[in-house]
Amino acid sequence: MTARLDVHAQARGTALRRLPSVDDVLKADAAIVAIDRFGRSATVAAVRAMLDEKRAALRTGGGAREADVSSARVAEAAFVRLIAEARPTVRPVLNLTGVVLHTNLGRAVLAEAAIEAAVTAMRQTIALEFELSTGKRGERDTLVRDLLCELTGAEDATVVNNNAAAVLLVLNTLAKGREAIVSRGELIEIGGAFRMPDIMARAGAKLVEVGTTNRTHPKDYAAALSERTGLVLKVHTSNYRIEGFTAAVPARDLVALTREKTVPVVDDLGSGTLIDLSRFGLAHEPTVAEAVAAGADLVTFSGDKLLGGPQAGFIVGRRDLIRKINRNPMKRALRVDKIRLAAIEATLRLYRDPDRLADKLPTLRHLARPQADILAQAQRLAPALAAALGETFDVTAAACNSQIGSGALPQETLPSAALVARPRTERGAGRALERLAQVLRDLPVPVIGRIADGALVLDLRCLDDEVGFLDALGSLAGGADALA
Ligand SMILES: *Cc1c(COP(=O)(O)O)cnc(C)c1O
Repeated sequence: MTARLDVHAQARGTALRRLPSVDDVLKADAAIVAIDRFGRSATVAAVRAMLDEKRAALRTGGGAREADVSSARVAEAAFVRLIAEARPTVRPVLNLTGVVLHTNLGRAVLAEAAIEAAVTAMRQTIALEFELSTGKRGERDTLVRDLLCELTGAEDATVVNNNAAAVLLVLNTLAKGREAIVSRGELIEIGGAFRMPDIMARAGAKLVEVGTTNRTHPKDYAAALSERTGLVLKVHTSNYRIEGFTAAVPARDLVALTREKTVPVVDDLGSGTLIDLSRFGLAHEPTVAEAVAAGADLVTFSGDKLLGGPQAGFIVGRRDLIRKINRNPMKRALRVDKIRLAAIEATLRLYRDPDRLADKLPTLRHLARPQADILAQAQRLAPALAAALGETFDVTAAACNSQIGSGALPQETLPSAALVARPRTERGAGRALERLAQVLRDLPVPVIGRIADGALVLDLRCLDDEVGFLDALGSLAGGADALA
């Protein structure tokens, strides 16, 4: 026993002594290729890191095989490491979660027209705050203001970083040091740290809650209105619904109530949509134009929810109020850059032709995709997935339900279809599923599904790139052994 340990220790000692120097490794073929591709300093750093790892492994008794420490081997290992490090962190994933507007996966996928406009704005100088007609300084909002007014019927419009910023800016402009009245049933948390009471506090507004969780009446608002009131805020409860014995005051009635007091009514629509989605077979979600027509003095909504554009927050409504908002120094801190403005303009322009919107706007195309179409795709792809996953899983094409996501129409599900991978044996099924989900996430183009009812569900509603998916499955074939 002791003799054998000695033999190991000796081999380790020899291996440690035989570890090549950094300079030796840099002369190996793989290192020369690496220097050409990644530069000298990155290659030297990778070689050092590899040597450090080998040394540490040898000291703790692992990896004592002598072949591991040749210059060629160390250079190859460093090269592999450099390739892995060069892979961008921001890279495409296949969203097969069944949530179309997935906040954690970047929400809306942009239309080609928006992508082209953004690329132009990146590559070239544009008249961002410059009036071509007069040669004078202009305002960046003018790039999209007319379109926003045309599509919403509002008098004026402005754009900021996202809808959270829009709400913050409106509150800070109109209710700083004053009171903002909100129904208790509408004090929402959107997710992350966006809670209405916190935003109010940060905006310097004093929150005045009226009504109860389930019922708020016009008289509750009327009793709270005073000379201290800065605004009345109506919040679209986009990500939940209170059912049963309920009452809320529509914006239209709030407007009637506050008119003589000249207190502005602000309607935070959240998702907001520019067209009636029922024409695409979806439930009716209030449109921005309806909110404007109902008399709200300001309406706020997101750019990357149902609208299908880049992250942005829109504020549309009364010209005098928009002017005040634009004069708030916070506006400067919350403004959007030229790339996004370009993408916003191109996205909004698509709405001038609603008949062809579903062809051109990926969000709408995904939302409107018929179940039969998705099911046919699932049936087409099931054999390839079955082959890639081997003996451990049964793969079927089955009906499922997708969600819109981002808190829009929370109770609405869309009939969809999925590839469903179910472990063949019950024992260890949970772990097998977790492992499968991990293997799919580790693919060069990660595939993100969801685990539900003892199976991995890959909802194909948002799968545009079928070839890319098949390629991904091809690279899985090797990894499938790990699943067994
Ligand atoms: C989503 C949402 C927000 C926040 O919008 P972002 O664009 O995500 O910042 C605010 N209010 C409501 C009602 C929402 O639904």
